[in-house]
Formats: sequence, C-alpha cells, structure tokens
Amino acid sequence: LFVAFEGGDGAGKSTQARALAAALEGAGREVVLTREPGGTPAAEAIRDVVLTPQYAGLDARAEALLFAASRGEHVARLVRPALERGAVVITDRYLDSSIAYQGIARGLGLEVVEQLNLWATRDLLPHLTVLLDVEAGTGLDRVTDPNRLEDEPTSFHAVVVQAFRDLAAREPGRYLVIPASGSREEIAATVLARVQTLLAD
Ligand code: C5P
Repeated sequence: LFVAFEGGDGAGKSTQARALAAALEGAGREVVLTREPGGTPAAEAIRDVVLTPQYAGLDARAEALLFAASRGEHVARLVRPALERGAVVITDRYLDSSIAYQGIARGLGLEVVEQLNLWATRDLLPHLTVLLDVEAGTGLDRVTDPNRLEDEPTSFHAVVVQAFRDLAAREPGRYLVIPASGSREEIAATVLARVQTLLAD
C-alpha cells in the first residue's frame, strides 16, 4: 500500500506521516517512511540543490526537472522495491506537490508537470493521498526554519493550497481531505481508519 501525505507548508504532514508509520508498525506491518524531495542519497542531494537559498531564483523548468529527477530515483530505488515486497510505503509529499507548486503556483501547467512526473515514476500513483488542508497563513506561521521555497509570499502558498483542493476534487476516490483544524490525535485516527480499511480490502 502506497500512502502520500500532501498539503501546503506547515500543514503537519511530517507529524502525521510519522504517527501513521508508528501505528502500523505497532500493528506488525513493515513500513517504509520516506519523504520528497529526497528519500535516497541521490534524491537527497537533489533536495539540497533545490532548497538551498544559495540558488534563489532557480529557473522554474529546471526546478520542475530536478523535482521529477529526484522522484524518479526515489521511486525506482526505494518506493517500488518496498511495495513489491509488501511493505506499506508512507511518503511525506509526492507527485501532487509538483503539480501544485511547479505546475500551478509557478505556472508551468498542470498537464506538462503531471506527464513529466508520470514518466519519471513509470506511472506510480499512491493508493491513498491524504491532503492536510490548512490555510496558507496558518501553515506558514508554524514553519520555524524557512527554506528557499517557504520564503515565497503567502499569496504563492495560497495558490498552492487551492491547487491541492482542486486536485482532490478532480479525483475524490484517491484522496482523503482533512481540515487541519482537528487535533493531532483526531487527524491521526481519521487517517489510520482509512488506511486500515484499505489494508483489509
Ligand atoms: O515538505 P518540505 O518542507 O520538506 O518540502 C520542502 C520544500 O519544497 C517546501 O518548502 C515546499 O514548499 C517545496 N516544494 C516545492 N515543490 C515540490 C515539493 C516541495 O516547491 N514539488
């Protein structure tokens, strides 16, 4: 089972991904908890290039290609092999982040970014994408150590948040949309319930 957590910056993705991993491990499942950009040594190296303030103003297409390259490597080396041996893979961000940030917010276009990433991953989509839906301003207030991208204006992040909502509305079967107004525990319980249903199928 492949589960992705998505949402704007400061939505609580990392916290919820960890909580889900702990719950499933506690139930005796093999879990691979990972993140994007990153997850393998080469993909983490690309992450450093994309996020370092040193490269402020990185060309938008170059940025999109770097994210896709890191994702392709991550899927080929870590995600797909883990899925093939029956592990639950939980990733903090995946392909929808590229559509929202590079496709919509940076204006490269949904279709081209989606196609690029489907090509990079050989069409691997999550079985479940959990969208932690938080208003851009609220999320950014929670970010303690802004990277190059989190320094973008709130208006940029508001576009990202709306893009995620639109993606979820386009494909409701693959998404679980959770307003981030609930407590950590409530959100974790909602996610776990859905994942257990999928695992029982
Ligand atoms: O989730 P995390 O904070 O680790 O993501 C790193 C940064 O990369 C975030 O600030 C996010 O805004 C940005 N990002 C992006 N495009 C993606 C994925 C992440 O701009 N496809």
